[in-house]
Amino acid sequence: MIVTRFAPSPTGFLHIGGLRTALFSYLWARKNNGRFLLRIEDTDLARNSEEATKAILEAFEWVQMEHDGTIEYQSKRFGIYEEYIQKLLDSGAAYYCYMTKEELDALREEQQKRGERPRYDGRYRDGALPPREGVSPVVRIKAPLSGSIAFEDGIKGAVEFGADQLDDFIIARSDKTPTYNFVVAIDDHLMGVTDAIRGDDHLSNTPKQIVIYRSFGWEAPKFYHVPMILNGEGKKLSKRDGATNVMEYKALGYLPEALLNFLARLGWSYGDREIFSREELIELFDPKDINKSASAYNASKLAWINHEHIKAQTDERLIALLKQDFDLDLGGFGASSKLLALCKEKAQTLEALAREARKFVSRPTGYGEKELALVTQEAAAIAAKFLEFAEGKTDMRGAIEAFLKAENIKMPQLAKPLRIALFGEAAGASLDASLDILGVFEAKIRLEALEKRLK
Ligand code: GLU
Repeated sequence: MIVTRFAPSPTGFLHIGGLRTALFSYLWARKNNGRFLLRIEDTDLARNSEEATKAILEAFEWVQMEHDGTIEYQSKRFGIYEEYIQKLLDSGAAYYCYMTKEELDALREEQQKRGERPRYDGRYRDGALPPREGVSPVVRIKAPLSGSIAFEDGIKGAVEFGADQLDDFIIARSDKTPTYNFVVAIDDHLMGVTDAIRGDDHLSNTPKQIVIYRSFGWEAPKFYHVPMILNGEGKKLSKRDGATNVMEYKALGYLPEALLNFLARLGWSYGDREIFSREELIELFDPKDINKSASAYNASKLAWINHEHIKAQTDERLIALLKQDFDLDLGGFGASSKLLALCKEKAQTLEALAREARKFVSRPTGYGEKELALVTQEAAAIAAKFLEFAEGKTDMRGAIEAFLKAENIKMPQLAKPLRIALFGEAAGASLDASLDILGVFEAKIRLEALEKRLK
């Protein structure tokens, strides 16, 4: 069975890069009827916060990416790690090192002077030096002294690290707390993880984790190191390129399925197809199709994908989302279907959809100076005459055409004052569609309000 996991370190909000690797892990598990685990890597008690864990769970809930089993917190597993460190000490695969910080600094300085890469020299390995009184030792694991650590990455292909790139690294600090790579390897093994999909910033951790697996005689999972998301200029993604916090996308009016679709396509492809439902992603996703190079974040593509998903939504869902997230209640609005159909044509986000639709639900509360300068009393009189003319007619488009012809005037002469009356704006959605939705009765009420203001 395929078992994947998302293993965030809760240091802040959930970043879209994190959501993307989580998504890949989720899709791969679901596709194979496997399990997708969530493990919170909160061993760094100084940097991790409960709020950050909550933010991750909130984001998971929003995108409805359900994980299997209970959430594991590394902070609650120190006893387990201690036990496994002891196992390595007992088997001789790890040992105590009593070197002080000063000694380590001195060694490093010497090595750098000689132009060598700083690395621990193994001086306590195999009891070469006796234990020291009064020094709390660290625990180091024996790394191979020659040869290399090689593995087949599911995305990068063959990866190899020479033994000279590794040293006997620390697996437990002098206060007995385990180090990062140790707990990741222990947990991935104990939780039965078969496929570890993660950012390629972790690539250099992998040989260390493989050393740990080998020390226990365990098989390592298959690793997939996903290239980073960069901005259009090939630099690290930052606030300036768009929202990086997953939950900000909700506030901006993105649909969770659109964000997931966008993130899936950011680094993975299936021919030149762009739009995928979650079911389609589950069916078609394969980590071997993840791109080898970094992907570029593209805000306009996200907006386009979001628009496609908005257009495909049912009215019920849109009405529910507009109410819940944008405080717009279309429940009692008679022509809500027509209204949504009209607004959906242009609105790329729910926020824009709410903004457009609100103009129909609420009357203008005032008019801008610029707009007022555009309507004279005569112009308003044309609009009033038209509404009389349109009364009782059902074909608004036909009514507009007939009226323009009868009065021998051009469209803007009617559209400008009427639009300002209806929405407080001189330009906007199709006039006939707008009238169709609002109805002539409501249009008259709005025009009367403008006329009052003009007097
Ligand atoms: N906790 C690590 C992070 O948040 C991920 C570890 C892993 O996926 O192996 O970057």
